[in-house]
Amino acid sequence: MDMAIVFISLGSNLGIREQHLIHAKNAIQKDIGTIISESSIYENDAVGFDGNPFCNQVIKIETILSPKDLLQKTQEIEIKMGRTQKTTIKNDMPVYSNRIIDIDILLYDDLQINTETLTIPHPKMNEREFVMKPLEEVRSRTHLTINH
Ligand code: ADP
Ligand code: MG
Repeated sequence: MDMAIVFISLGSNLGIREQHLIHAKNAIQKDIGTIISESSIYENDAVGFDGNPFCNQVIKIETILSPKDLLQKTQEIEIKMGRTQKTTIKNDMPVYSNRIIDIDILLYDDLQINTETLTIPHPKMNEREFVMKPLEEVRSRTHLTINH
């Protein structure tokens, strides 16, 4: 079976935020694939809107789902967990809202995808400290270190 390695970003800024991250990871483990590694949980101010502070985490998973099926599953989990609002665009600017859970696909193997509904690598990841810091942590954790 063909396994893809995928990095996913999780964020929550409503209610018991850490609990929402745990809930999302349990759902991912059940419906998407195996979680191989995870970063620490970081607390960050909302970026791009005047919202509550977030808890953010990046996880590394192994999945047999295609990128399209993966996005469908992550969105199903967001909705099941009670996320009501999507980010919308107004005057060419994104309008963000507080959210129980946000699940974004950062990297899918070394694939590049650019469709109406899915862009991989995630188009904003490089400019987002709240994504890059935990991403680097997960990647460094799984690097092979050789001692001379
Ligand atoms: P944001 O995460 O930017 O706040 P949303 O979570 O509301 O926004 O998602 C808005 C849309 O972004 C989704 O409906 C989805 O189609 C699209 N999208 C494009 N690329 C990705 C990606 N790599 N991961 C998750 N969603 C994506
Ligand atoms: Mg999102």
